[in-house]
Parts: sequence; structure tokens; C-alpha cells
Amino acid sequence: MQTAAAIERLPAIGLADARGRALRDLRISVTDRCNFRCVYCMPREIFGRDYRFMEHDELLSFDEIVRVAEAAVGLGVDKLRITGGEPLLRRGIEELISRLAELRTPSGARPDLALTTNGAALRVKAASLKAAGLDRVTVSIDSLDDAEFRAINDVSFPLDRVLDGVAAAAEAGLGPIKINAVIKRGVNDGQILPLAERFRELGHTLRFIEFMDVGASNGWSLADVVPSAEVIRRIDAVHPLEPLAPGRAGETAQRWRYRDGAGEVGVISSVTGAFCGTCTRARVSADGKLYTCLFANHGFDLRALLRGGADGSELGDALSGVWAQRDDRYSELRSELGGTADRDRIEMSYIGG
Ligand code: SAM
Ligand code: SF4
Ligand code: SF4
Repeated sequence: MQTAAAIERLPAIGLADARGRALRDLRISVTDRCNFRCVYCMPREIFGRDYRFMEHDELLSFDEIVRVAEAAVGLGVDKLRITGGEPLLRRGIEELISRLAELRTPSGARPDLALTTNGAALRVKAASLKAAGLDRVTVSIDSLDDAEFRAINDVSFPLDRVLDGVAAAAEAGLGPIKINAVIKRGVNDGQILPLAERFRELGHTLRFIEFMDVGASNGWSLADVVPSAEVIRRIDAVHPLEPLAPGRAGETAQRWRYRDGAGEVGVISSVTGAFCGTCTRARVSADGKLYTCLFANHGFDLRALLRGGADGSELGDALSGVWAQRDDRYSELRSELGGTADRDRIEMSYIGG
């Protein structure tokens, strides 16, 4: 029997999985397509002309996405992130944003609404995204060297246009802006300091992400990973840092503050410092599969449920049923095994990072 104290705590805990982790964040992929071919995410040898992307009717419609998000928010999700592929390629994305911005948690609060983008279309879209109700953007920038940036995105997309997109987002009020940089040894590890210096100057929050073994196509090897500790050491040697306390339960980044007061920088140690114990994220792929881990090998088919006529409460039951059984902790297992844990893999561009 539950004690009165335990019952009192329940609303704060919300829905718990098999390891006691709450469901707080929902990442929604709105397309599996992208205008970049980042070498570590959508290598062109695989994502070439013959690659079969989803047809439009395979994607969840905006109505369907809103219904899923509404059910999740009803279960305690207070953070929604739109991703892809490249989410700004989804036609009419502002309409989806405006409908998601109307959702309210059971306590009447507005969930935090963010979007992760490669920034290519931000100059054009920033103001309309803000007007639709988007709170914040995260922009992925892996190098400040134009030639290197073009080689990494592998479509020769110029760095200046993405930096201009970041400026447009700042002007539109889509901050605090976060910048994601995936560092791969021998490719862009020379960029750690330049990236740190540029974005501390601009006042944007930079997060270095360890290169992960997502998908089956990026040729991952542990030797390619630059450990977060090394990233921090390299920055600290020039611009002294001190650790910051985590901002929010379930936050993926370890945050550091520049001792001279010039903002902060973070590292996401998905490989060298697994954080499965506090992972509160669920993901919905563009075709409506619900995944309880970035490395899960199969998802629950929400689209079948939606198109089969399920109502809101059936949808909520399905989400809570899947979450209650969740036992994932892939990154911890990978660390224990010292490398890749055995499994089938879904691609990052499919599940959305
Ligand atoms: N296209 C958007 C973008 O690039 O921001 C959103 C989707 S992308 C899959 C989301 C994030 O995943 C990006 O910041 C990207 O750098 C990161 N990512 C992709 N593949 C990765 C990998 N193998 N390891 C770590 N991060 C990765
Ligand atoms: Fe596209 Fe983002 Fe993947 Fe790069 S990281 S290929 S921009 S989905
Ligand atoms: Fe969460 Fe899975 Fe990543 Fe662990 S490996 S932090 S459970 S998404």
C-alpha cells in the first residue's frame, strides 16, 4: 500500500518506466529527408538517388502529430522538440508549431517548444517560426572553417548562410539559442577552440556532442570519439572553466561556466558518460513509430492506432503502456561492453537525434 507521502509525490513523478524514470520530453521527427548529407549522419553513398524516403502519406499528418503530442502532454510531457531529417523542409511547419503552441499541461502550463535544425532555411523562416509560437532553436554547426563545413555537410553548403540563419534566429527572439557540434577525431577536432570562442562571444550556448554509434551507415568506431573530458580540457587550458549544477532533471548536457563570466559551454557525453539513468525522452519518427530509446530497434506503431480510429484516451493508454514497460539503457550497456552493444539499428535521420 502507498503511504500518504508517496501518493503526494505521485503528480511530480508522473508516469514512471520500469526503471522509475518519468516521461518528460517528446522529440517529434517531421520528415526523414534532408538537404544536407552530413558524413556522420546521412552519408551520400547510402542516402543517394536510390534511397527510398517516406512518401507523404506515410508521414504523420499535422492532425496526427498534434493528437500524439496532446496525449503525451496529458501524461506529463513538458518539453516538445521538433526534429528530422531537416524539419524546416516539412511544408507548412509553422502551422504545426502554432497548433503545438496551444497545448497545455494538466496544470495549465505551456510546454517548452523547441526545434533542431541545420540552419540552412533559418534566415527565411525565423520570424514566421517565432510568430507561430516556437520558443527556441538549436542549430547544428560542426566547423567554423568554411571548406571543412562544406565537406562535412557534403553538399558544399556555405557556413556563412548558416551563421546568418543563427543571427536571424537571435533577431527573431528564438533564444536562448543552442549550437550543437558533433566532434569526430581527425575530422573537426581542430574546431573545439574556435567554436567555443565564437559562440561565447555571441552569447549562444554551445554543446559538444560525442559522435555516437547511431544507425548502421556512419562507420562508427570508438577511436573516432573525442571524449568530453578532452573537449573540456582543451577549452579550460585557454579559457578556464568551472562546472555548473544541472539546470533540470534529465538534462543531457554537463554544463561548464567560463570563469571570466562569458557564458557557458556544455558537453553531451553519450559515449563516455552514459546518462540513461535520468533519460526522460521518448521519440516519434516521421511515420509515427514511438521509440523509447535512441538506440531502440523497434518502435510502437502509433500511426496504425491513429488511422484505426483510436480516441484520445486509447492513445494515452498506448503511450503509458509502452512507457511503463520501458527498460532501455543502451549507452550504459555500451560502456559496460567497451564498444558497440549488439543490435539492429535505426538511422539518426529517421529518429531525429
Ligand atoms: N537536421 C537537423 C540538424 O542537423 O540539426 C535535425 C536532425 S539531426 C539528426 C539532430 C542532431 O543529431 C544534430 O545536431 C546532429 O549533429 C546530431 N547527430 C547526427 N548523427 C549523429 C551521431 N552519429 N552522433 C552524434 N550526433 C549526431
Ligand atoms: Fe541532415 Fe541534420 Fe543529419 Fe546533417 S545531421 S544530414 S543536417 S539530419
Ligand atoms: Fe536514453 Fe537510450 Fe540514450 Fe540511454 S541510450 S540516454 S536510454 S536514449
